[in-house]
Amino acid sequence: MRTRGLKSERRTTRLIPCLFLKSSNRDHLVGTEMEKVRDIGETRKRSDDMILVAYFLSRCTDFSDGKVPRPPTSLGVDSWNGAYDLFFDALSDGRSQQQFRHTLRNTRDIFDSLFDNGRKGWSDGQKRGSELSERDRAVHEHWIRNGDEDLFCKVREFLVEQVRHRNPDWTRDELIIALDYHLNHRNFDPRPQSEEVGELARRIAKVGAALGLIEHGSLLRTPDAIAMKLRNFSSFDPQYTDNGRKGLTNGNRLEVELWEEFSGLPDELARVANGILELIDTSNAEILAFDAPEFEASEGRILTRVHVSRERNSTLVKKKKGAALRKHGCLACEVCGFDFLQTYGERGREFIECHHTLPISLLGEHGKTSLSDLALVCSNCHRMIHAQRPWWSIDDARAALIRVNRSRSQG
Ligand SMILES: [Zn+2]
Ligand SMILES: [Zn+2]
Repeated sequence: MRTRGLKSERRTTRLIPCLFLKSSNRDHLVGTEMEKVRDIGETRKRSDDMILVAYFLSRCTDFSDGKVPRPPTSLGVDSWNGAYDLFFDALSDGRSQQQFRHTLRNTRDIFDSLFDNGRKGWSDGQKRGSELSERDRAVHEHWIRNGDEDLFCKVREFLVEQVRHRNPDWTRDELIIALDYHLNHRNFDPRPQSEEVGELARRIAKVGAALGLIEHGSLLRTPDAIAMKLRNFSSFDPQYTDNGRKGLTNGNRLEVELWEEFSGLPDELARVANGILELIDTSNAEILAFDAPEFEASEGRILTRVHVSRERNSTLVKKKKGAALRKHGCLACEVCGFDFLQTYGERGREFIECHHTLPISLLGEHGKTSLSDLALVCSNCHRMIHAQRPWWSIDDARAALIRVNRSRSQG
């Protein structure tokens, strides 16, 4: 084990007495951190690891039903206490279980003003983020550039053993491959020992390896687990249940979501599934290792990474900007017209983002990006385009702006 015991000993003997010293004597402590420690009713200094986990808990809170903020789904627990307890072994640092839950919860709440997670942190009514200590802020600034998936990969280190080694939740990409298979074999009862399910397991393992969930050559899902997923899809499928048969009925939210999005569009889904597999076979590792963005398309993580890698291709972006400058003499957002140079002066010169407009389901088939596939958009419009599934097209975004402006001028 690490030097946990040592650390906590030093902390309790050094920090607790410090609270009772005259202020001049505790000047050597970082001021903001000490304030924070007192505010959350704690006398021990919180470790960097604990702050990171608290940040993860706040940021990845599952608020998908819009009602109750629940622990991140990646933890696979229903209650918040259950979530805190997963980190107790690694991070308790000499605290009792109650103290530990309390500190982790309060530290989590510090970050709540940064995220729309349905919980009003203690910052309610204060300026956004103003209650963050320097260390809290540094964590946010570092991690905001990375996707939730990467954050969880880091946080996983601090989980209790059993959970750390549990299979990760099914990803959209894997479910896409499984659902595509189901739609092509709708009347077939999937047997784990069958050749077909074995082949499907190998395909899904390929996806898992590309996403960094497993090592190449190992199996991510057992044939039993895959057969169970297929039966879940059967339970949604009227073609299957109309014959009086029943599938399993414990499908999770993501399965339901995918079923609703794609079961009526089998050709589209086949294109997406083939696109994912082809990309894994042909792509350079660079794209697959591309930092996962904080948003994910309906079509899954792999195609999302391809999308982002294409729109951040610096050579293409440069060409696109050059072409627009030559044609229009300025760089304005194609959705709202915003011009960074006009608003911010020199600092905004040649500043604008690129959005890749090709439907993401086609990315697998089109290796090359041409300039006409890219649109110039301001950072706000770009974020809105990706903010929800399905993503907006440029026309969707324009239409939304017009709609809102119209209703505002009428109201
Ligand atoms: Zn814009
Ligand atoms: Zn984009």
